[in-house]
Amino acid sequence: VELVKDLGKKYGTSMLFISHNLGLVLETCDRICVMYSGEAVETGRIEDVFDKMQHPYTQALFRSIPLPGANKNSRPLVAIPGNFPLPHERPKGCNFGPRCDYFEEGRCNSNKAIPMAHVEHGDRHESRCLKFAEIDWDAPLIAAEKKEKGAIGEVVLKIDNLKKYYEVAANAIFGGGNKKVVKANETLSFEARESETLAIVGESGCGKSTFAKVLMGLETATDGEILLDNKAVQNTAIEDRDTKTVADVQMVFQNPFDTLNPSMTIGRQIIRALEIFKVGNSEAERRTRMLELLDLVKLPREFADRMPRQLSGGQKQRVGIARAFAGDARIVVADEPVSALDVSVQAAVTDLLMDIQREHKTTLLFISHDLSIVRYLSDRVMVMYLGHVVELGTTDQVFSPPYHPYTEALLSAVPIADTSVIKKHIVLEGDIPSAMNPPPGCPFQTRCGWKSKVSGGLCDTEMPPVREIAEGHQVKCHLSDEEFAGMEAVIKIAAE
Ligand code: SF4
Ligand code: SF4
Repeated sequence: VELVKDLGKKYGTSMLFISHNLGLVLETCDRICVMYSGEAVETGRIEDVFDKMQHPYTQALFRSIPLPGANKNSRPLVAIPGNFPLPHERPKGCNFGPRCDYFEEGRCNSNKAIPMAHVEHGDRHESRCLKFAEIDWDAPLIAAEKKEKGAIGEVVLKIDNLKKYYEVAANAIFGGGNKKVVKANETLSFEARESETLAIVGESGCGKSTFAKVLMGLETATDGEILLDNKAVQNTAIEDRDTKTVADVQMVFQNPFDTLNPSMTIGRQIIRALEIFKVGNSEAERRTRMLELLDLVKLPREFADRMPRQLSGGQKQRVGIARAFAGDARIVVADEPVSALDVSVQAAVTDLLMDIQREHKTTLLFISHDLSIVRYLSDRVMVMYLGHVVELGTTDQVFSPPYHPYTEALLSAVPIADTSVIKKHIVLEGDIPSAMNPPPGCPFQTRCGWKSKVSGGLCDTEMPPVREIAEGHQVKCHLSDEEFAGMEAVIKIAAE
């Protein structure tokens, strides 16, 4: 984004930036055109549309994204009800009508097309809403129902010094040569408790997906332990695990489009999962359970007879969640579960996961690179870099200073769709080094802006120890306590 912006400035190039990430739009663009179901519904300068929006869809979009301050219990996101109409299903009058809080019968659904209308203030600010001048845009949001926070229970998963190394041929194309070792996970140690959401964050290549594979039994560990209810499972591949262990640890994948069988009905696919987990003694019992699972993920029971192609992305992800819970999973690894979905359905799927977690006391390992959503739903956060856990703490601890220098850089890169947020600007130079050839000393030393504050070149030569800088808050870094104490917040609200 930095590069594209600089090039645009340098050459005076006009840019059309197409995105559903409102934070990135704020950081990159001067003007915005919000589209819904085939037409522009609001256009204007970024400041006007973000701060003085004049279309109910724009308002609903902003209410469904996790801005700082949103919280899964005290300030839950507000999902946009219903679904996006397909081109042949567009309603009469306003396309957004069936999902709009301000819908007026006879007016919003009359046969007349709704034109774009000029908004008084602002620069070429326009809205395609018949009622924009009547709506009280400053009216406080009718508070969404507050949710009770589930009590965090006993430790169900304990990872102790887990290592996962791969041996690869140094010359991967032609084979032969010396073998090299890729250290995908290095001495991972942490615990996760019942009803807890632990987020695992980091760039691609940080080892988070490798860890998920070892936990699921798709790979076995090189060293260390994974204790599931005090039972070591790190060396048992999935085919050798008993049914209960397999059912206990389940996964929700990033892309619901790839995980469903296109030629099998939704109901059949859920029943298949029930058969694998040996749930129910007869076909009839499994069918009943399948319908209950559809209820659980808030899909209509008629969906049992539908094919995957008849479902939207959000609905498919709900089926993925239903399958994960078919065997009453106790630990669910959710690998970027909403990043392939439209922003407007992300909130609904996120809240569904949270609701099921509250009810079933599930331990959720939430793998993500989207720190906004991580902040919204996690109880604790683990930051990984090049196979190492570099920071681990409660969400508040990790999102406020002092941070590990890598976390600080990650936070400064989060695009936040709020014009009142001021961020410290840290651009991480270079890419994450190869796990086949990690740097000596601290794994982050090739990109760290704080390295010069550590005397004696320690960062270049010695692996930093894991230090506890507050109760339950650990970082892997050589910086002194004084340096940590002097760190400033990366994300500030302008009024603060
Ligand atoms: S025209 Fe009516 S239904 Fe459409 S956005 Fe405006 S208030 Fe909502
Ligand atoms: S140990 Fe040194 S290089 Fe590593 S994060 Fe800390 S300051 Fe940066």
